[in-house]
Amino acid sequence: MGITRSFFIALSNNRLLNSGAKKWGFQLGAAKVVAGTDIPNMMASVQELNDNGISATIDRLGEFVTSRKEAQQAATEIIETLQTISTAGTDAHLSVKLTQIGLDIDQQFCFENIHRIVKEADEHNIFVNLDMENYDRLQPTLDILHALRKEFDGVGTVIQAYLYRSEKDLEALKDVRLRLVKGAYQEHEEVAMQSIEDIDANFLKLIKLRLDQPAFTSIATHDHHIIDAAIAYADEQGIPSDRFEFQMLYGFRTDLLKKLSADYQVTSYVPFGEDWYGYFMRRLAERPQNLQLVIKGAVSK
Ligand code: FAD
Repeated sequence: MGITRSFFIALSNNRLLNSGAKKWGFQLGAAKVVAGTDIPNMMASVQELNDNGISATIDRLGEFVTSRKEAQQAATEIIETLQTISTAGTDAHLSVKLTQIGLDIDQQFCFENIHRIVKEADEHNIFVNLDMENYDRLQPTLDILHALRKEFDGVGTVIQAYLYRSEKDLEALKDVRLRLVKGAYQEHEEVAMQSIEDIDANFLKLIKLRLDQPAFTSIATHDHHIIDAAIAYADEQGIPSDRFEFQMLYGFRTDLLKKLSADYQVTSYVPFGEDWYGYFMRRLAERPQNLQLVIKGAVSK
């Protein structure tokens, strides 16, 4: 891992800066990759995406949730978000991080919170994706997913290509709607591949395995090499285009997403909320070139 990546990951994990960032306001170019700090701003951004043929998966941002009260409040706010998109008839679903609703406090308590969200989403026919966080949270997330799926179909999760165990997980989740990604966290070499080449090769392998299966797959990447290879494989195998989609993060490669929307389903991952700082720092960690967002943001203010 390069120094720059470690640096931004360390910044994303810094509680003092997280709370400070809220006070400093929505600065440093974050507005280019976070769709505002409240529901009206987020809804305006999502409407614009929908008008361009792009669906949305909405993430109400939240970090460092340590009390039950904060976790319950986060769940209530997520429900408020889903009720808003349902009432407006918006083409969107939800992405939820379980740590935001109490995973690190108590797994049963977290299950009760996500159950409340998924039950409400089910009533509105809105899909809920459980985002995948770092390795320590993987098994608890899968356990909660399995428990939810005993009652609800409209819930899925994410498979990270950098993990050695992902191929097995993919097989076990073959009936579940999944998002496939390279993986965003800093993981130990015992559990995760470290080289870009290995991760890319495994990502493509998992995409192919998954496209051969009937359940819906979201291929989430900004990497045009991977996108081109996935399309070539789907064409070669005659895989119907309604069985998969491409997802990208809000504000990244929008032109490419729009171009893809002519032939494929596409979805933008739309984060919003006051807790934007950690999300923004992780994006800088992934791709130091994203620093341009900071520079342009600072200049254009
Ligand atoms: P990279 O490896 O960052 O880039 C590969 C190549 O693609 C680059 O060398 C360049 O040629 C090109 N490229 C990439 N970005 C750009 C750009 N902005 N402009 C021009 N060219 C570019 N991770 C998780 O761990 N859990 C999750 O739940 C999760 N959800 C995600 C949801 C979505 C919708 C997306 C898009 C990503 C998600 N991720 C998640 C993050 C993911 O794991 C990767 O860390 C992140 O997407 C960076 O990898 P990449 O595949 O986009 O390409």
